[in-house]
Amino acid sequence: MTQTANVYQKPLPAMGGLTGEFYGWCKRRELRFQRCTGCGSWRHVPREQCAACGSPSWEWARSSGRGSVFTWTVVARAMHPSFQDDVPYAAVVIELEEGVRLVSEVVHCPPEALDIGMPVEVVFEDVTPEVTLPKFRRVQT
Ligand SMILES: [Zn+2]
Repeated sequence: MTQTANVYQKPLPAMGGLTGEFYGWCKRRELRFQRCTGCGSWRHVPREQCAACGSPSWEWARSSGRGSVFTWTVVARAMHPSFQDDVPYAAVVIELEEGVRLVSEVVHCPPEALDIGMPVEVVFEDVTPEVTLPKFRRVQT
C-alpha cells in the first residue's frame, strides 16, 4: 500500500505575499483578515490599500470565525480532474461576522442542506504539510 492515494491533488493557493500571510495564520488555526488601521474596515482578499479610505496602513485582525452562508453555487461538472469524485458539490460564499466574505466549503453538508443565512463557524483542514485551508461547519442553533 502506497500513500499516493492520500496525496492532496487539488490546486493549492499561491503562498507568496499577502496571500501567503493569510494562509500562514490559517496554519496557526487563526482566521485573520486585513483591517484598516485608518478607518477600521475589514477586507478580503488581501490587498495593499483600503478601498474605503485609501489608507495603506492595516493589521492582521483576528476574526471570530463565525459567520453565515451568503450564497453558493453547485458545481455539477468538475472543472479540474481532482474534483471528479466530489461533484456535485457547493462552492459557498461565507460572510463572516466582521463583514468580509470568502469562498469556501461547508463540510459534511450536501448542497441540498444549505440555506441562506445558515450559521457556520470556521474549521481548519491541513491539506498538505504546508497548506491549511479554512473551511466551515454548520452551527446548531
Ligand atoms: Zn480604511
